[in-house]
Amino acid sequence: MVEPKYKRVILKLSGEALGGEKGFGIDWEVVESIAEEIAKVRELGVEVAIVVGGGNFFRGRSAEHIDRATADYMGMLATVINSLALQSILEKRGIPTRVQSAIEMRQIAEPYIRRRAIRHLEKGRVVIFACGTGNPFFSTDTAAALRAAEIDAEAILLAKKVDGVYDSDPKKNPNAKKYDFITYLDVINQRLEVMDSTATSMCMDNQIPIVVFELAKGNIIKAVMGENIGTLVNV
Ligand code: UDP
Repeated sequence: MVEPKYKRVILKLSGEALGGEKGFGIDWEVVESIAEEIAKVRELGVEVAIVVGGGNFFRGRSAEHIDRATADYMGMLATVINSLALQSILEKRGIPTRVQSAIEMRQIAEPYIRRRAIRHLEKGRVVIFACGTGNPFFSTDTAAALRAAEIDAEAILLAKKVDGVYDSDPKKNPNAKKYDFITYLDVINQRLEVMDSTATSMCMDNQIPIVVFELAKGNIIKAVMGENIGTLVNV
């Protein structure tokens, strides 16, 4: 049997991806299909931690009427809604799941405790990290980079609506070129919209590979197996 390339991963799901076609709210079919794939990935013996975004409900940087820090806290709360939705669907499939929140809310989630998160993973539980880093002015991409470094994840699987990293926006430029591989420095220097620069430089400093791919059926497994889907960002 072919072994998976990565044994412990952070799967970053953007809020927009959970929103499906509309990109808003929760598309339960999408969540069900993500859960189905996570079940298969677990069967391969891969430890899965998930960082979820919140853009399908609220994004701090696009709020106009309130100050940025408050808007960011609202964005972080949105990630909790997504985390609980994902947890419910995973557990319905019999996958033991823990939500750990970077902002304490003891009635609904465990607080983030690094060693405890690692223990959950070792026991085969899926850990969902909610509330990003817990700090305004950051993103859930940065949370994915931070948590990956903390728990020694071998890669970040960045599931997106686009199928990889392009040299320009493929929606605007029909001749946009997709990269199979690109370095962190090129992503930063060319200001490519893979992750924000804080997240990318955190991955670069800690040498965490990022696999950017489209959240389509079968792709999470392919990414874990190291198949050439999307774009690999590395040194
Ligand atoms: N956010 C934050 N600090 C963090 C992570 C997230 O303030 O560490 C806020 C920020 O307002 C962000 C929102 O939560 O816009 C939702 O996260 P993000 O935009 O990263 O979600 P995605 O685009 O992946 O859906």
